[in-house]
Amino acid sequence: MSQPASSSISAESISELTRDTNYGTWRFQKGWKPLHVVDAEGCWFTDDAGKRYLDMSSQLMCVNLGHKNPRVIESIAEQARELPFMGPAYATNARARLSAKLLELLPAGLEKFFFTTSGTDANEAAFKIARMVTGKNKIISRYRSYHGSTAASIAATGDLRRWAMEPAGKGMGFVFAPETNCYKCPIGHTYPGCNIACADYIDHMIRNEGDVAAVLVEPIVGTNGVLIPPPEYLPKLREICDRHSVLLIADEVMTGWGRTGKWFAVDHWNVKPDILTTAKGITSAYVPLGLCATTKKLADYFEDRYFSHGHTYEAHPITLGPAVATIEEMQRLALVERAAEMEPYLRERLEGLKTKHVSIGDVHGIGLFFAVELVKNRTTKEPFNTMRDKVEGKPLVVDQIAAKMMADGVAQQSWVSHFVIAPPLIVTKEELDF
Ligand code: PLP
Repeated sequence: MSQPASSSISAESISELTRDTNYGTWRFQKGWKPLHVVDAEGCWFTDDAGKRYLDMSSQLMCVNLGHKNPRVIESIAEQARELPFMGPAYATNARARLSAKLLELLPAGLEKFFFTTSGTDANEAAFKIARMVTGKNKIISRYRSYHGSTAASIAATGDLRRWAMEPAGKGMGFVFAPETNCYKCPIGHTYPGCNIACADYIDHMIRNEGDVAAVLVEPIVGTNGVLIPPPEYLPKLREICDRHSVLLIADEVMTGWGRTGKWFAVDHWNVKPDILTTAKGITSAYVPLGLCATTKKLADYFEDRYFSHGHTYEAHPITLGPAVATIEEMQRLALVERAAEMEPYLRERLEGLKTKHVSIGDVHGIGLFFAVELVKNRTTKEPFNTMRDKVEGKPLVVDQIAAKMMADGVAQQSWVSHFVIAPPLIVTKEELDF
């Protein structure tokens, strides 16, 4: 590999140099040709040839405000001028202002905060806190879930990416329950006759596993297909957890901050988790921030006990000031309400595609958060590809369609056999039409 001086890298070699020197994540390295992006504004980004792409998945379902919001950009500079860094032992203006905002917006009862730099490490904090407080080890997670990429959070992940941690991951105390998926129920039931058997399954697991500290759910599954639980599911799970004195952890890394038409997905069912984790939309990804929020009751446990956790970059001012600006912008532009208002239009347009293409098996979603499921056959609901195909590097039909859409100027998150449609919450009807 040639080694150009960093000042003399030609525009043409940017993609090549990136590819040669960086890992391409969650993929076979062969064939990775990263697109060289030079600009992004609103719902669009632009490559080095000047071609524009509609960002229909808000990058990784995170740029909820859209690109280049001037107020958030300014807040980064303001925070850098005021106080770029203090360690986590100190109080700062940004930390206090964001904490006050969170008390206002998070589901009631979540009153104690641990700030991290990603969704992954927010979940790591949640697991440690749940285990320290309960003195128990096991955490029930679900298949078709994603909770992050480090040792424990990938072991908590239900999809096959957790294989990277096995067999070591098996020692990490995660056990798996079936996902909620009313389009294709993994335990063979049909809603509403099922009486929410998937929640009863977890009750059964808690009783038979023993040593269960917590149940961990994405209230609406994200990457693995925007799976919306039936309305009774989360309230029933809350009741089951209470009955067994097991904590309920809601991973709202993707679903938080308006994506589903409420501030948080659990708000749709008025369920109060003991721990809520989030990241992404909290800063619209302008700066890297994660959050693990717990009830005061959990936090009180540590009043007279050692809280054995922390990071250098915990509560980093450069992440907290812009989070306040992001939330204020969301409020000023009423984007949570907007996501709810746009839902029927997006649904109607996607349902329209379904009537045109027999390979679309189902369209489901909430707010500005939808999945389009591809199937070989609408009756059997057999997908074109499975997660196993993906981790084994087989070509996926969904990726071929995504490549075609990219050529037509629409960037879209494809995953296994579905698309996750999650445009910035500022998206217009005209952009959705496109
Ligand atoms: N949890 C969920 C539900 C996610 O969707 C993600 C990322 O997509 C994570 C956790 C991990 O967050 P991060 O990529 O910020 O580490």
